Amino acid sequence: MSATNAELFARAQAAIPGGVNSPVRAFRSVGGTPRFLVSARGPYVTDAEGRDYVDLVAGWGPAILGHADPRVVEAVQAAAARGLSFGSSTPAETELAELVEARVAPVEQLRLVSTGTEATMSAIRLARGATGRDVLVKFAGHYHGHSDGLLAEAGSGLATFALPGSAGVPADIAALTLVVPYNDLDALAAVFAEHGERIAAVIVEASAANMGVVPPRPGFNRALVELAHAHGALVISDEVLTGFRVSEAGWWGLEARTADTAYTPDLMTFGKVIGGGMPVAALGGRAELMQQLAPLGPVYQAGTLSGNPVAVAAGIATLRAADAEVYGRLDATAATISAAVSEALAAEGVAHAVQRAGNLFSFVFGEELAAGAHDYATVQRQEAWRYAPFFHAMLDAGVSLPPSVFEAWFVTAAHDEAAIGRILDALPAAARAAASA
Ligand code: PMP
Repeated sequence: MSATNAELFARAQAAIPGGVNSPVRAFRSVGGTPRFLVSARGPYVTDAEGRDYVDLVAGWGPAILGHADPRVVEAVQAAAARGLSFGSSTPAETELAELVEARVAPVEQLRLVSTGTEATMSAIRLARGATGRDVLVKFAGHYHGHSDGLLAEAGSGLATFALPGSAGVPADIAALTLVVPYNDLDALAAVFAEHGERIAAVIVEASAANMGVVPPRPGFNRALVELAHAHGALVISDEVLTGFRVSEAGWWGLEARTADTAYTPDLMTFGKVIGGGMPVAALGGRAELMQQLAPLGPVYQAGTLSGNPVAVAAGIATLRAADAEVYGRLDATAATISAAVSEALAAEGVAHAVQRAGNLFSFVFGEELAAGAHDYATVQRQEAWRYAPFFHAMLDAGVSLPPSVFEAWFVTAAHDEAAIGRILDALPAAARAAASA
């Protein structure tokens, strides 16, 4: 018999710190043994013990079409057969850039990188280079990858220069990041009033989804751009998670539909869906800004694997397939599942709120949060302990949820009636587990 998840985890922990290559995979906040996955198809993932699970993680976002979609797999296989990496330009890179530019108007030019961390790190360097200023503003609870300046402690108060959020981040670097409460324009205005001349950029998740889902209040992004521009600062809208997931044009596209919410960021970052499950990410924006990147301009940025032909093939195939029908399905599936979870929790008397942003959703627990949460401080006050038993009851019933209450749930277009049915069947027992926690 092949190794169990527990055996694989023990072996991994000897060879790899914590047994994982990215911390949340270790199940630290929900406890128990992480599942070691060996394959995935459509809405299902299969672990080393041969058990399958309906998946609501979707590779943390990329798998909008479902896992191993044949169109994507074939494109990858064909590209791989032509060579894995050339370190030279390929026609496909331009095609992917054009696909993005056709969908997201603020993106006039695009530079490909390999991870979301690289995309935001490079966008910040570009913003600093273009403005000649050093200070960066971010929002509490927003995640933009793990580069030094972006781990600034979430939850710091208004206009407080942040402490390092990680050991190993020099205090001088952390001091260049100002942390502001999300959805609080007054706090942002106060930071600009005090430090405006030093601020290079505001970086913001287009719709926050790394503290659970916390959408911007209507018009927040628009007002933020106006405020930053009034002080000569740039706005980097981070769509690594939301880009090409919540609509064909990401979160920007949803808010562009009405004049009160439409906004034009200077730079945008992408990841996840743009690579269809392969390592592709990107930064894009106004041509005049983007052309400050090397080789045209003084801001250096490079990558051996940037625009990798196999990865780009997955991204192109995914974006081509992700049409209006796909987004319609994602929206409908998200509505069905989030409503069913809410109903099951309510039936057991578990006070909660559904946090929803397009087809992304998550839940906050507790009477105090029943009206929903709009910032990190509120999200942190929830009855987070209710999630672990809920999570494990779902897992035992063959449904894989994100292993933390502070993560979004991700649906795919492959979630069919059978997959959704398994989720619905599992909910009453999971809600009971949450109630008795
Ligand atoms: N920005 C956002 C909004 C993200 O959600 C993430 C990843 N979850 C990143 C940046 C970092 O991307 P990566 O993990 O590819 O470095």
